[in-house]
Amino acid sequence: MNRKPKRVMSDIGERQFLLEIANLVSNPVLGFNDDASAIQLSEDTILVINADMLVKQTDVLPGMTYNQIGRKAVTMSVSDIVAKGVNPLGCLASVAFPEDLEVESAKKIIEGIKDQCSEYNIQYLGGDLNEGIDIIVDAISFGTCSKESLIPRVGAEVGDILYTTGYFGLTSLGFQFLLGNINLNDELKHLALESVYNPKAKIQYLSLFQKIQVKICMDSSDGLFITLNDLSKLNGMGIEISKLPIHPNVSDYAKEWKQNPLELVFSGGEEFELVFAISPDKEHQLIKEAQKQNLELQRIGSFSDKFEGIKITDEEYRECEIPKGGYEHFSSFHS
Ligand SMILES: [Mg+2]
Repeated sequence: MNRKPKRVMSDIGERQFLLEIANLVSNPVLGFNDDASAIQLSEDTILVINADMLVKQTDVLPGMTYNQIGRKAVTMSVSDIVAKGVNPLGCLASVAFPEDLEVESAKKIIEGIKDQCSEYNIQYLGGDLNEGIDIIVDAISFGTCSKESLIPRVGAEVGDILYTTGYFGLTSLGFQFLLGNINLNDELKHLALESVYNPKAKIQYLSLFQKIQVKICMDSSDGLFITLNDLSKLNGMGIEISKLPIHPNVSDYAKEWKQNPLELVFSGGEEFELVFAISPDKEHQLIKEAQKQNLELQRIGSFSDKFEGIKITDEEYRECEIPKGGYEHFSSFHS
Protein backbone atom coordinates (compact mmCIF):
# COMPACT_ATOMS: atom_id res chain seq x y z
CA MET A 1 0.00 0.00 0.00
CA ASN A 2 1.22 3.45 -0.91
CA ARG A 3 0.87 5.54 2.24
CA LYS A 4 1.45 9.27 2.08
CA PRO A 5 4.08 10.30 4.61
CA LYS A 6 2.58 12.33 7.45
CA ARG A 7 3.49 15.97 7.21
CA VAL A 8 4.04 18.26 10.17
CA MET A 9 3.57 22.02 10.17
CA SER A 10 7.27 22.77 9.87
CA ASP A 11 7.40 20.70 6.67
CA ILE A 12 5.23 23.18 4.82
CA GLY A 13 5.29 26.49 6.75
CA GLU A 14 2.61 29.07 7.44
CA ARG A 15 2.00 30.27 3.89
CA GLN A 16 1.54 26.84 2.31
CA PHE A 17 -0.80 25.84 5.15
CA LEU A 18 -2.91 28.94 4.52
CA LEU A 19 -3.21 27.97 0.85
CA GLU A 20 -4.44 24.52 1.86
CA ILE A 21 -7.23 25.87 4.10
CA ALA A 22 -8.26 28.83 1.94
CA ASN A 23 -11.50 27.19 0.77
CA LEU A 24 -12.72 26.77 4.37
CA VAL A 25 -12.65 30.46 5.18
CA SER A 26 -15.20 32.99 4.04
CA ASN A 27 -14.10 36.61 3.88
CA PRO A 28 -16.58 37.89 1.29
CA VAL A 29 -15.74 41.58 1.33
CA LEU A 30 -11.93 41.54 1.53
CA GLY A 31 -11.03 38.05 0.32
CA PHE A 32 -8.83 35.39 1.88
CA ASN A 33 -5.58 37.25 1.23
CA ASP A 34 -6.22 39.94 3.78
CA ASP A 35 -5.29 39.85 7.47
CA ALA A 36 -8.52 41.64 8.31
CA SER A 37 -11.98 40.16 7.78
CA ALA A 38 -15.13 42.07 6.91
CA ILE A 39 -18.85 41.50 6.66
CA GLN A 40 -21.56 43.76 5.40
CA LEU A 41 -23.87 44.72 8.29
CA SER A 42 -26.25 46.90 6.31
CA GLU A 43 -26.48 48.79 3.04
CA ASP A 44 -23.82 51.27 4.10
CA THR A 45 -22.02 49.70 7.04
CA ILE A 46 -19.21 47.17 6.97
CA LEU A 47 -17.77 45.56 10.09
CA VAL A 48 -14.00 45.07 9.85
CA ILE A 49 -12.41 42.75 12.37
CA ASN A 50 -9.01 41.22 12.98
CA ALA A 51 -7.56 38.60 15.33
CA ASP A 52 -3.82 38.58 15.92
CA MET A 53 -2.07 36.28 18.35
CA LEU A 54 1.05 37.08 20.30
CA VAL A 55 2.94 34.07 21.64
CA LYS A 56 5.81 34.79 24.00
CA GLN A 57 8.14 32.24 22.45
CA THR A 58 7.97 33.75 18.95
CA ASP A 59 6.85 37.36 19.44
CA VAL A 60 8.55 38.54 22.62
CA LEU A 61 12.15 39.66 22.60
CA PRO A 62 14.62 39.43 25.46
CA GLY A 63 14.25 42.42 27.77
CA MET A 64 10.67 43.24 26.79
CA THR A 65 8.55 44.22 29.80
CA TYR A 66 5.18 42.65 30.61
CA ASN A 67 3.51 45.98 29.90
CA GLN A 68 5.14 46.03 26.45
CA ILE A 69 3.87 42.48 25.77
CA GLY A 70 0.27 43.58 26.35
CA ARG A 71 0.79 46.71 24.28
CA LYS A 72 2.35 44.85 21.37
CA ALA A 73 -0.55 42.39 21.12
CA VAL A 74 -2.99 45.29 20.73
CA THR A 75 -0.77 46.95 18.12
CA MET A 76 -0.50 43.73 16.06
CA SER A 77 -4.26 43.60 15.71
CA VAL A 78 -5.13 47.30 15.48
CA SER A 79 -2.56 47.78 12.72
CA ASP A 80 -4.58 45.52 10.41
CA ILE A 81 -7.75 47.53 11.04
CA VAL A 82 -5.92 50.79 10.37
CA ALA A 83 -4.53 49.34 7.11
CA LYS A 84 -8.15 49.08 5.91
CA GLY A 85 -8.60 52.79 6.51
CA VAL A 86 -10.90 52.00 9.41
CA ASN A 87 -11.02 53.66 12.79
CA PRO A 88 -10.81 50.90 15.42
CA LEU A 89 -13.57 51.06 18.02
CA GLY A 90 -12.70 48.35 20.50
CA CYS A 91 -10.40 45.48 21.33
CA LEU A 92 -10.90 42.15 23.10
CA ALA A 93 -8.02 40.00 24.23
CA SER A 94 -8.00 36.35 25.26
CA VAL A 95 -4.98 35.59 27.36
CA ALA A 96 -3.26 32.42 28.51
CA PHE A 97 -0.78 32.47 31.37
CA PRO A 98 1.43 29.68 32.73
CA GLU A 99 0.38 28.63 36.25
CA ASP A 100 3.67 29.78 37.75
CA LEU A 101 3.54 33.31 36.28
CA GLU A 102 3.63 35.89 39.06
CA VAL A 103 0.27 37.57 39.56
CA GLU A 104 1.83 41.02 39.36
CA SER A 105 3.42 40.12 36.00
CA ALA A 106 0.08 38.86 34.66
CA LYS A 107 -1.57 42.09 35.79
CA LYS A 108 1.11 44.12 34.03
CA ILE A 109 0.27 42.39 30.75
CA ILE A 110 -3.39 43.29 31.18
CA GLU A 111 -2.41 46.86 32.08
CA GLY A 112 -0.33 46.97 28.90
CA ILE A 113 -3.38 45.95 26.87
CA LYS A 114 -5.41 48.65 28.57
CA ASP A 115 -2.66 51.29 28.17
CA GLN A 116 -2.29 50.66 24.45
CA CYS A 117 -6.06 50.70 23.92
CA SER A 118 -6.23 54.04 25.74
CA GLU A 119 -3.40 55.41 23.61
CA TYR A 120 -5.31 54.43 20.46
CA ASN A 121 -8.47 55.84 22.01
CA ILE A 122 -10.34 52.52 21.78
CA GLN A 123 -12.20 50.51 24.37
CA TYR A 124 -10.66 47.45 25.98
CA LEU A 125 -13.61 45.10 26.22
CA GLY A 126 -12.13 42.16 28.15
CA GLY A 127 -11.82 38.60 26.86
CA ASP A 128 -11.14 35.05 28.02
CA LEU A 129 -8.58 34.02 30.65
CA ASN A 130 -6.99 30.60 30.39
CA GLU A 131 -4.00 28.57 31.55
CA GLY A 132 -1.30 27.74 29.02
CA ILE A 133 2.30 26.60 28.77
CA ASP A 134 3.38 29.95 27.37
CA ILE A 135 2.12 33.53 27.61
CA ILE A 136 -0.38 34.04 24.81
CA VAL A 137 -2.36 37.20 24.07
CA ASP A 138 -4.88 36.90 21.26
CA ALA A 139 -6.16 40.38 20.48
CA ILE A 140 -9.29 40.98 18.44
CA SER A 141 -10.03 44.50 17.30
CA PHE A 142 -12.76 45.89 15.10
CA GLY A 143 -14.33 48.95 13.59
CA THR A 144 -16.95 49.92 11.04
CA CYS A 145 -16.82 51.83 7.79
CA SER A 146 -18.68 52.49 4.58
CA LYS A 147 -17.99 50.42 1.48
CA GLU A 148 -16.33 53.41 -0.22
CA SER A 149 -13.86 54.06 2.59
CA LEU A 150 -12.69 50.45 3.00
CA ILE A 151 -9.17 50.05 1.55
CA PRO A 152 -8.49 46.63 -0.01
CA ARG A 153 -5.19 45.00 -1.02
CA VAL A 154 -6.22 44.53 -4.64
CA GLY A 155 -7.09 47.28 -7.10
CA ALA A 156 -3.85 49.02 -8.05
CA GLU A 157 -3.27 50.04 -11.66
CA VAL A 158 -0.17 50.53 -13.79
CA GLY A 159 1.63 53.71 -12.76
CA ASP A 160 0.08 53.93 -9.30
CA ILE A 161 2.54 55.35 -6.79
CA LEU A 162 3.61 53.47 -3.67
CA TYR A 163 4.25 55.17 -0.37
CA THR A 164 5.18 54.03 3.11
CA THR A 165 4.41 55.80 6.36
CA GLY A 166 8.00 55.60 7.51
CA TYR A 167 11.47 54.13 7.21
CA PHE A 168 12.57 50.50 7.49
CA GLY A 169 15.56 48.69 8.88
CA LEU A 170 15.53 49.53 12.57
CA THR A 171 13.69 46.38 13.65
CA SER A 172 16.25 44.19 11.80
CA LEU A 173 19.01 45.80 13.80
CA GLY A 174 16.97 45.56 17.01
CA PHE A 175 16.45 41.80 16.52
CA GLN A 176 20.11 41.23 15.66
CA PHE A 177 21.26 43.25 18.64
CA LEU A 178 19.03 41.38 21.08
CA LEU A 179 20.09 38.04 19.68
CA GLY A 180 23.62 39.09 20.52
CA ASN A 181 25.10 39.36 17.05
CA ILE A 182 26.04 43.00 16.65
CA ASN A 183 27.27 46.17 18.30
CA LEU A 184 25.39 49.43 17.86
CA ASN A 185 26.27 52.97 18.85
CA ASP A 186 24.11 54.54 21.57
CA GLU A 187 21.84 56.47 19.23
CA LEU A 188 21.20 53.55 16.91
CA LYS A 189 20.77 51.17 19.84
CA HIS A 190 18.10 53.43 21.29
CA LEU A 191 16.25 53.72 17.95
CA ALA A 192 16.50 49.99 17.20
CA LEU A 193 15.34 48.86 20.65
CA GLU A 194 12.52 51.38 20.70
CA SER A 195 11.31 49.99 17.35
CA VAL A 196 11.12 46.42 18.65
CA TYR A 197 9.99 47.08 22.24
CA ASN A 198 7.40 49.76 21.50
CA PRO A 199 5.97 49.23 18.02
CA LYS A 200 2.97 51.39 17.21
CA ALA A 201 0.12 51.07 14.75
CA LYS A 202 0.06 54.09 12.43
CA ILE A 203 -3.38 55.18 13.55
CA GLN A 204 -2.55 58.87 12.99
CA TYR A 205 -2.65 58.26 9.21
CA LEU A 206 -6.37 57.53 9.23
CA SER A 207 -7.17 61.22 9.02
CA LEU A 208 -4.97 61.43 5.91
CA PHE A 209 -6.63 58.37 4.35
CA GLN A 210 -10.02 59.94 4.89
CA LYS A 211 -8.95 62.90 2.73
CA ILE A 212 -7.11 61.06 -0.06
CA GLN A 213 -8.38 58.15 -2.08
CA VAL A 214 -6.01 55.33 -1.19
CA LYS A 215 -6.37 52.43 -3.62
CA ILE A 216 -4.65 49.65 -1.72
CA CYS A 217 -2.95 49.32 1.64
CA MET A 218 -1.27 46.67 3.77
CA ASP A 219 0.69 46.82 7.00
CA SER A 220 4.28 45.63 6.92
CA SER A 221 4.13 43.35 9.96
CA ASP A 222 5.64 40.39 8.05
CA GLY A 223 8.45 42.50 6.62
CA LEU A 224 8.67 44.83 3.64
CA PHE A 225 9.68 42.11 1.19
CA ILE A 226 6.67 39.91 1.94
CA THR A 227 4.40 42.96 1.89
CA LEU A 228 5.62 44.14 -1.51
CA ASN A 229 5.69 40.63 -2.88
CA ASP A 230 2.09 40.01 -1.78
CA LEU A 231 0.92 43.33 -3.24
CA SER A 232 2.74 42.59 -6.49
CA LYS A 233 1.20 39.12 -6.83
CA LEU A 234 -2.30 40.13 -5.73
CA ASN A 235 -2.36 43.01 -8.21
CA GLY A 236 -0.69 41.04 -11.02
CA MET A 237 2.02 43.64 -11.60
CA GLY A 238 5.64 44.31 -10.82
CA ILE A 239 6.78 46.87 -8.28
CA GLU A 240 9.64 49.21 -9.06
CA ILE A 241 11.45 50.58 -6.02
CA SER A 242 12.97 53.88 -7.09
CA LYS A 243 13.73 55.05 -3.55
CA LEU A 244 14.54 52.51 -0.86
CA PRO A 245 12.82 53.53 2.41
CA ILE A 246 15.92 52.83 4.49
CA HIS A 247 16.29 54.63 7.80
CA PRO A 248 19.26 57.05 7.45
CA ASN A 249 21.02 55.60 10.52
CA VAL A 250 20.53 52.07 9.17
CA SER A 251 22.02 53.15 5.86
CA ASP A 252 25.10 54.49 7.67
CA TYR A 253 25.35 51.28 9.66
CA ALA A 254 25.14 49.10 6.53
CA LYS A 255 27.96 51.08 4.91
CA GLU A 256 30.16 50.97 7.99
CA TRP A 257 29.69 47.25 8.67
CA LYS A 258 29.33 46.19 5.03
CA GLN A 259 25.92 44.63 5.50
CA ASN A 260 23.42 44.23 2.67
CA PRO A 261 21.09 47.23 3.15
CA LEU A 262 18.28 45.39 1.34
CA GLU A 263 18.47 42.57 3.86
CA LEU A 264 18.01 45.06 6.71
CA VAL A 265 15.15 46.90 5.00
CA PHE A 266 13.28 43.93 3.54
CA SER A 267 13.62 41.17 6.10
CA GLY A 268 13.03 42.80 9.47
CA GLY A 269 9.31 42.78 9.97
CA GLU A 270 7.06 44.17 12.70
CA GLU A 271 7.64 47.76 11.66
CA PHE A 272 3.86 48.16 11.38
CA GLU A 273 4.42 50.83 8.77
CA LEU A 274 1.65 51.07 6.20
CA VAL A 275 2.45 50.45 2.54
CA PHE A 276 -0.14 52.04 0.25
CA ALA A 277 -0.74 53.14 -3.31
CA ILE A 278 -2.52 56.10 -4.86
CA SER A 279 -3.12 57.16 -8.41
CA PRO A 280 -0.49 59.65 -9.73
CA ASP A 281 -3.05 62.45 -10.07
CA LYS A 282 -3.65 62.33 -6.30
CA GLU A 283 0.00 62.81 -5.38
CA HIS A 284 -0.04 66.57 -5.13
CA GLN A 285 -3.04 66.46 -2.82
CA LEU A 286 -1.45 63.69 -0.71
CA ILE A 287 1.78 65.60 -0.16
CA LYS A 288 -0.05 68.82 0.68
CA GLU A 289 -2.36 67.10 3.13
CA ALA A 290 0.46 65.12 4.78
CA GLN A 291 2.41 68.35 5.31
CA LYS A 292 -0.65 70.00 6.77
CA GLN A 293 -1.12 67.12 9.19
CA ASN A 294 2.61 66.86 9.88
CA LEU A 295 2.77 63.23 8.75
CA GLU A 296 5.92 61.65 7.37
CA LEU A 297 5.72 59.82 4.04
CA GLN A 298 8.26 57.93 1.96
CA ARG A 299 7.63 57.72 -1.78
CA ILE A 300 9.15 54.37 -2.66
CA GLY A 301 8.12 53.53 -6.23
CA SER A 302 5.33 52.47 -8.52
CA PHE A 303 3.43 49.60 -10.13
CA SER A 304 4.54 48.43 -13.55
CA ASP A 305 3.35 45.88 -16.11
CA LYS A 306 6.81 45.65 -17.71
CA PHE A 307 8.11 42.96 -15.33
CA GLU A 308 7.08 40.67 -12.48
CA GLY A 309 8.08 40.84 -8.84
CA ILE A 310 10.21 43.53 -7.29
CA LYS A 311 12.85 45.54 -9.11
CA ILE A 312 15.19 48.03 -7.46
CA THR A 313 16.03 51.05 -9.60
CA ASP A 314 17.30 53.23 -6.73
CA GLU A 315 20.81 54.05 -7.98
CA GLU A 316 22.38 53.65 -4.58
CA TYR A 317 21.05 50.14 -4.02
CA ARG A 318 20.32 48.64 -7.46
CA GLU A 319 23.40 46.40 -7.36
CA CYS A 320 22.48 44.89 -3.97
CA GLU A 321 21.02 41.41 -3.86
CA ILE A 322 17.32 41.23 -3.02
CA PRO A 323 16.84 38.83 -0.10
CA LYS A 324 13.84 36.57 -0.37
CA GLY A 325 13.31 36.51 3.37
CA GLY A 326 10.53 37.52 5.65
CA TYR A 327 8.97 36.04 8.70
CA GLU A 328 7.12 32.78 8.46
CA HIS A 329 5.77 30.67 11.29
CA PHE A 330 6.47 26.92 11.67
CA SER A 331 9.45 27.27 9.50
CA SER A 332 13.16 27.72 9.68
CA PHE A 333 13.29 28.39 5.96
CA HIS A 334 12.59 31.77 4.42
CA SER A 335 9.78 32.06 1.91
MG1 LIG B 1 -1.43 41.99 12.34
